[in-house]
Amino acid sequence: MESWQSYLEKFPIPMTALSRAKKGDRMAHAYLLVSSNPDYRLDFPMLLACLRVCVNPNPDGSPCMECKECKKIQNGLYPDFHVLSPASKAREIVIGKDSDDPDTLRWFEAQFHLSSISEWKIGVIQEADTMNESAQNAFLKTLEEPPGKCLFILTTGRASNLLPTVRSRCQLLALTDNRCEYRFPRCSDIPAILENLALQPQRSLMRAEDCTRSLLEISSSLLSAAQAVAAERWAPRLEAAKELENAGVKLIEKRIDGEAGSEYRRNREQFISLIHTWFAQLVLLAEGMDLSIMPNPEVMPDPEKVRKLVTVDRAHRMLESAESLLGALRTNVNDELALRTFCLAINQMLKKPV
Ligand SMILES: [Zn+2]
Repeated sequence: MESWQSYLEKFPIPMTALSRAKKGDRMAHAYLLVSSNPDYRLDFPMLLACLRVCVNPNPDGSPCMECKECKKIQNGLYPDFHVLSPASKAREIVIGKDSDDPDTLRWFEAQFHLSSISEWKIGVIQEADTMNESAQNAFLKTLEEPPGKCLFILTTGRASNLLPTVRSRCQLLALTDNRCEYRFPRCSDIPAILENLALQPQRSLMRAEDCTRSLLEISSSLLSAAQAVAAERWAPRLEAAKELENAGVKLIEKRIDGEAGSEYRRNREQFISLIHTWFAQLVLLAEGMDLSIMPNPEVMPDPEKVRKLVTVDRAHRMLESAESLLGALRTNVNDELALRTFCLAINQMLKKPV
């Protein structure tokens, strides 16, 4: 299980809100944990349960993970911790006949009407979107009138499959990795190029042209780099096929072409996305927001420098230009034309030289 700290590093905003809620005794009685990552959906309910039951929380409100209650949760010995997950062949959660019908909603709900051993009862519904409509409607009543001190945690990767009435009765907890790991050739050069272009006290046509050249160099190297990667991956098999002089050669060459194509499209999409992200985050910095809340703080320059050189209004106009560039590059206007137009537009937003 990942630690509270590691979730805090990945998702500072919702995690801080959670520990504050514990500290202020304002925790919700039901959370809807939405994440595309199945590990988070499996793991996180335990941490959330620790947060609920911890009797000796840290000063910030986060669970200590050391007290008797935290230990019981972690060791699977907490008596009032009940999990419902899709079990039938159809991978569906159904209402069920009665409270003795295991892995059904009736069974699950019955656990919360038994006399409790602990102060808090914890109920986890894994993959809550697999509840059929009648099960969801039945559970709605429990959500509306929770039986005593309960914490319900519903997890899902597809929140849209849940009834709006169920969703609205849970506090949303989105653990979504929106961070993009940029890893195309020379991606690390781009932030410096954009900084050189946009964070300047005054205009310079020559500088704008330099930036155009550098960006163009990177975008035009993406295809050959993708071809090289695909060729290298298949080299041993291609060699072997050539030795046998069989029809496999053609097939492998086709595979190389196909892989190079998809690698190229991925790289190009990342190239476009990085430029856009940089300007979108520039707006946030100019607005005075903290780097720590941004999905890709690592690509940004010093916030102080941004605030000194870019007004909020100008940052917004720069982002508009980046959005036009995005549109142009995706519709395959000539790259050189699109990049030059963009760099000139950004340059034009800077002060005239005196
Ligand atoms: Zn504790």
